[in-house]
Amino acid sequence: MGKLYSFSINTPKEGLINITSIARECLSDSGVRDGLLVAYVPHTTAGVTINENADPDVQTDILKGLARAYPDDPEFRHAEGNSSAHLKAAATGSSVTVIIEQASLVLGTWQAIYFCEFDGPRTRKVFFKIM
Ligand code: ZN
Repeated sequence: MGKLYSFSINTPKEGLINITSIARECLSDSGVRDGLLVAYVPHTTAGVTINENADPDVQTDILKGLARAYPDDPEFRHAEGNSSAHLKAAATGSSVTVIIEQASLVLGTWQAIYFCEFDGPRTRKVFFKIM
């Protein structure tokens, strides 16, 4: 049920990437007028979130706040050494759901969908499922 869209994105070392316009293009292609859009990130050191699209300082502050909340810790055991990125990904989550009404995403004026990179640069994937 519903169409699945898949995209690759090249990410920086760390950052929030606005993927709202990609979501809107998928929605337009799907022809769905009433339903749900799920944005899903199949990664363990990246996430997806909905947050402010107006002041870019908010994105910077989110990254600063997450760095403060989930700093590297010499007691972490994960040999890859990127547990801080795993914790940030756990905090943001792997998916968001947006309501579709009259063929539009029901987002607040100041809301956008952001892919969150915590351990780049990498080529990442994002999926949009529209039902
Ligand atoms: Zn790891």
